[in-house]
Amino acid sequence: MRVLLDETQLTTGVHGLADEIDRYYGNQRHLTVIAVMTGSLVLFADLIRRLSMPQRVGVVQASSYRGGTTSGQLHVDAKMMIDVSGRDVLLVDDIFDTGKTLDRLRSMMIEFGANSVKTAVLLHKQRDHAVELRPDFVAFEIPDEFVVGYGLDYLDMYRNLPYLAVLEPAEIEATASEQQP
Ligand code: 5GP
Ligand code: MG
Ligand code: MG
Repeated sequence: MRVLLDETQLTTGVHGLADEIDRYYGNQRHLTVIAVMTGSLVLFADLIRRLSMPQRVGVVQASSYRGGTTSGQLHVDAKMMIDVSGRDVLLVDDIFDTGKTLDRLRSMMIEFGANSVKTAVLLHKQRDHAVELRPDFVAFEIPDEFVVGYGLDYLDMYRNLPYLAVLEPAEIEATASEQQP
């Protein structure tokens, strides 16, 4: 495993991200902050505690990495969504890769009647994106490699790592065979 961002770098990045969001919205405007599960779990907990404005928080689940390291069919589960009609919504995700997840979720929030929708991510992969949308708030630009830790998984493993790392091909293979039931 090769560490890309250590704990100190992640903390600094998340604080900077929160400051940027605070500056944009101000500390008076009510915000509805939505965690895109499961990858944003760790970021979300750290981020919302640094934001100054009054907030409602909710979750939505999206998955597209169906058991692998390459992007697959996007599946959204909005059963746990809170009401966003007339609200200013901030979608928080772990990483912007193809962009399809946040693009789809942004459209959904608009369909649900949101007053405005912005997107915040910890990581932005430097690659060609499949959509025109770009995230509004980004903590780090990273190369086009498969990363895990700080909420990001491979087969639901590694989310608990306090740092962000690149998995080596041998580790990908070993994890895949260990995870067979
Ligand atoms: P997008 O829809 O932008 O292609 O992908 C977004 C989702 O794919 C992220 O929320 C994340 O769950 C997953 N994803 C994209 N790149 C990576 C990566 O490098 N590592 C991990 N663990 N997940 C990724
Ligand atoms: Mg995700
Ligand atoms: Mg995943």
